[in-house]
Amino acid sequence: MDADCLFCKIVTGDIPAEIVYDGEGALAFRDVNPQAEVHVLVIPKRHVPDVGALGADPEAGAAVLAGIRAVADQLRLPSYRTVLNTGGDSGQTVFHVHAHVLSGRKFGWPPG
Ligand code: 5GP
Ligand code: ZN
Repeated sequence: MDADCLFCKIVTGDIPAEIVYDGEGALAFRDVNPQAEVHVLVIPKRHVPDVGALGADPEAGAAVLAGIRAVADQLRLPSYRTVLNTGGDSGQTVFHVHAHVLSGRKFGWPPG
């Protein structure tokens, strides 16, 4: 728990969010500024800042992957794009690691 972290406050319930999945080690909620019909963020409940740190915490990493699978199952997503931005140039703005799960339209490649 990082007292200054927005997503830690969603984990504790201090900031409201539309929760999609609440697992033992991970939480999933709707993105406040959706970029597709379905746009869910999957986060570890523990404060982990980015993918590099997630690699050093296998339990939290597994929880995030299980959360992605649970969201896809629950929302019956036939296909989806997962994005984990790391660092400023990638577009990371919240430094509590999160997987974007996007679905409901066709996505381009390479990504913008
Ligand atoms: P990043 O740019 O770090 O990869 O993604 C951060 C995401 O968090 C953005 O898509 C943004 O819309 C979302 N976000 C920022 N603040 C909030 C919030 O208070 N609640 C929710 N549900 N999503 C947020
Ligand atoms: Zn946090």
